[in-house]
Amino acid sequence: MRLQQAMNDTVAEVARTAAEENIDADIHQGGVLEVAYTPAQLARLKAFHATELSYGEKDRELYGARDTAERIRVAGAVGSTWTPHGARLHPAKLVKGLAAAVESLGVTIHESTPVTEIRPKHAITPYGTVRAPYVLRCTEGFTASLKGHRRTWLPMNSSMIVTEPLPEDVWSSIGWEGRETLGDMAHAYMYAQRTADDRIALGGRGVPYRYGSRTDNDGRTQPATIDALREILVRFFPQLAGVAVSHAWSGVLGVPRDWCATVTLDRTTGLGWAGGYVGSGVATANLAARTLRDLVQQDSGQSGPTELTALPWVNHKVRKWEPEPLRWLGVHGMYATYRAADHSERTSPTAETARLARLADRLSGRH
Ligand SMILES: Cc1cc2nc3c(=O)[nH]c(=O)nc-3n(C[C@H](O)[C@H](O)[C@H](O)COP(=O)(O)OP(=O)(O)OC[C@H]3O[C@@H](n4cnc5c(N)ncnc54)[C@H](O)[C@@H]3O)c2cc1C
Repeated sequence: MRLQQAMNDTVAEVARTAAEENIDADIHQGGVLEVAYTPAQLARLKAFHATELSYGEKDRELYGARDTAERIRVAGAVGSTWTPHGARLHPAKLVKGLAAAVESLGVTIHESTPVTEIRPKHAITPYGTVRAPYVLRCTEGFTASLKGHRRTWLPMNSSMIVTEPLPEDVWSSIGWEGRETLGDMAHAYMYAQRTADDRIALGGRGVPYRYGSRTDNDGRTQPATIDALREILVRFFPQLAGVAVSHAWSGVLGVPRDWCATVTLDRTTGLGWAGGYVGSGVATANLAARTLRDLVQQDSGQSGPTELTALPWVNHKVRKWEPEPLRWLGVHGMYATYRAADHSERTSPTAETARLARLADRLSGRH
């Protein structure tokens, strides 16, 4: 419950900091709306809603079909859950603004300087070695590229498409005036936002994972992934059937074996790390960074323990992913199973989660 509260506060903290630093990142705190459009999804949505309330979320709301449509008219939606603790933003504007803010404080950011290996008090790059009392690894989905970390966090791909700006008459048929971020309760879930310039940016899983924890870092997105995301877009909003996709982009997320994010400082080596946010890292990275800061200040005697250093994700231990080819087979098998389960839930009227998905959840360690 303390972690939930800290996460809720962090959404407002990101917005407050951006305002104070004059960073225009299109931030709009419209909350998060998650919709269900099959009976099985609705059953999961209600269970999810109840779990969130049990973690102290007092302001979360549960909607039926009509109230959902009052917010966003998603085709076939039978219910939704909404929390005010979420914000729409433009991540590239945020990261550029933050970089400018720290540079104006005198910090130097070294770009195009890959760290290939981290050792106690040493970060090794092709151009030289940086020495420091503390080395903090915050490389999320790219962690596998560091020596010795191929199995630490799985680099999972996520892809997005963005439409052209949509005209007013389309928006009046969709609603979405609150600009909530949008998600669903499918096993291979989607996420979307109404951008500041009135486009829809929608994401989901493309090719989930590349053999040997390889990562692409140029953002290129396969045509089949663009088609699959477009299909979701049109399934959600059939009136967009003729709308062009203007951009597509892919990146990597860091996925720990137990799907739990962690913040750790090893006092004996001075090595710290934060991450494993599994695709929900924009606000979480802020909370993790403030927590790492407190851990370092505590360790170096500049301050005592704080509320953040006492959060339960601090020093949480997680085992490594399986070696290849098990890792590749497991992830691809899991996503094939999730897609089959989503299809069977869409085509059958039962309120029970497909047995296939329950099996995949157990194997993947997600639940
Ligand atoms: C398509 C997509 C959609 C997403 N949507 C959402 C969303 O809707 N909401 C949400 O909360 N999160 C979302 N995420 C996840 C979110 O982007 C991440 O969780 C967040 O960026 C993590 O922040 P970070 O600073 O820890 O890591 P990153 O933003 O990944 O930054 C890591 C940095 O480390 C650098 N780096 C990596 N390896 C090395 C190395 N060896 N040496 C030196 N530097 C290195 C990288 O260049 C990068 O600058 C999405 C991610 C993707 C890919």
